[in-house]
Amino acid sequence: MPSSTGAPILKAPLGVEKHRKYFDKCLLGPIPHYFATLEPSRMSLVFFLIGGMAITDSLESLKASGAGTAVADWIYMMQVEPTSENGGAAGFRSSSVLGCGEQISSASSDSPIHTLDTSHITMTYCALAALAILGDDFSRVNRAAIVQHLRSLQREDGSFQAVSYGPGMKALDFTAPGPDGQPLPGIGDSEYDMRFLFSACAVSWLLDDWSGIDQVRALEYIRQSYNYDGGFGQGPFLESHGGSTFCALASLSLMGKLDEALPDRDHTIQWLIHRQLELSYNGRPHKDEDSCYSFWVGSSIELLESGHLPDHAKIMTYLSKCQSVIGGLSSSMGGSPDPIHSYLGLCGWHLCQKHLGSAGVENLDDAPADFPLISIDTSLDMPLHSVEHMKKLHAQWKKQD
Ligand SMILES: [Zn+2]
Repeated sequence: MPSSTGAPILKAPLGVEKHRKYFDKCLLGPIPHYFATLEPSRMSLVFFLIGGMAITDSLESLKASGAGTAVADWIYMMQVEPTSENGGAAGFRSSSVLGCGEQISSASSDSPIHTLDTSHITMTYCALAALAILGDDFSRVNRAAIVQHLRSLQREDGSFQAVSYGPGMKALDFTAPGPDGQPLPGIGDSEYDMRFLFSACAVSWLLDDWSGIDQVRALEYIRQSYNYDGGFGQGPFLESHGGSTFCALASLSLMGKLDEALPDRDHTIQWLIHRQLELSYNGRPHKDEDSCYSFWVGSSIELLESGHLPDHAKIMTYLSKCQSVIGGLSSSMGGSPDPIHSYLGLCGWHLCQKHLGSAGVENLDDAPADFPLISIDTSLDMPLHSVEHMKKLHAQWKKQD
C-alpha cells in the first residue's frame, strides 16, 4: 500500500540486506541530490553510515574490499592541525566544502587556505567515532592538540562552543547590513549548547584524556539546564527536549557523575516515559513521533536503567513501518530514508530487541528473522565492540606514557 506521500512502505520482515546495501551505496556511491545541503556536515553522515554498516554486521566486507582504508584516509584528510592562522584549532572539519582538506593534501600542505576553515567539535566526535568503528589505531590523530583546543572552546558558563576562528576571520567585517537593512547574523559567533558539551565529553572519552574539560563548570551548565518537568533543555531556561536530555545524561554518564549530579532521577524517567505516544516516541510534548527518538529517548531511558518500562513491541512496529523499499529508515512512516534516521532507528531497534528478546520479536507482525543483535553503547552512540577496541587502545597509550 503506498503511503500518503506516494512512497511505497516496505512490509515485513525488516529487510536487513536492503539496509546493508543502502548504507553501502550512500557511503561509496553517488548519493541522492537532496543530500547536497548536508555537505557542511558530511563527517556526521560518514559516522552514521559506518555505524550503520557495523550494526548490520557488514563492516568486514567493507574492510575486505579496501574501502574501509579509503574512508579512514578521507577522514584523516579532514584533520585540522593547529597553526597561527587558525588560532590553534585542532580536530576535524566536516568536509572539503571550503576547498580545504582533500585539495590541500594533494598539494602537500597542511595550512588552511580559507579564513573560515577550522575544526568543529561535533565533527571531531564523529570522525573519531567513525575511526573507532573502523578499528583504526589512532596513530595519525593529533590527540594532544585536540585536547588543548577543547580548553579554548569551553565558555565561562561551562558550555562548549562548536568552533573557534583564527585571526584571519576575526579581521573580516560582518557588520555590514543585509538586504533588509538589519545587521547580518554574526558569522563569527559560534553556537554553544548541550550538543557541543556532549561532543566534548565524547571526544575526551575517546581520547582517554579529560584535561580539556573543566568538569565543575560543565556539571553546573547541565544542572542549570535541568527543567521543572524533569527533562533538560539545550541550555538554561530552554524547553526540555529528547535530544538535549540524551546529551545531558550521556555527558554525565561519560564523566562518571550520573548518580551524584542528576537532580531528580525519577522525575527525568517520568518525563522520558511520557515521550512514548500511540506509535512511538516524540522529542517533546505536542510533537509527532519520529524514528530517531527511539535512540535519543530510548538510550536515555536505558542510561537510567529503566529499559523495562517502554512498550518495545510498539516502537519496533513503528520502526519497521519507517523502512523504505530501497533500504534505510525515514523519520516517519512514508518519508524518504536518510542516513541519520537509518542509523539511529536501527540503534533504537537494537535497544528494543535487547529487552523484548528473540521470542518476543518473532511475535511481531514485521518480525526480522535475519537481523543481527549488535549491542550499542548508549552513552557514545557506538557499537559496543568499537568501545572495547578503544579501551584496548587506551591501555596501550597508558603503557607508552
Ligand atoms: Zn528525527
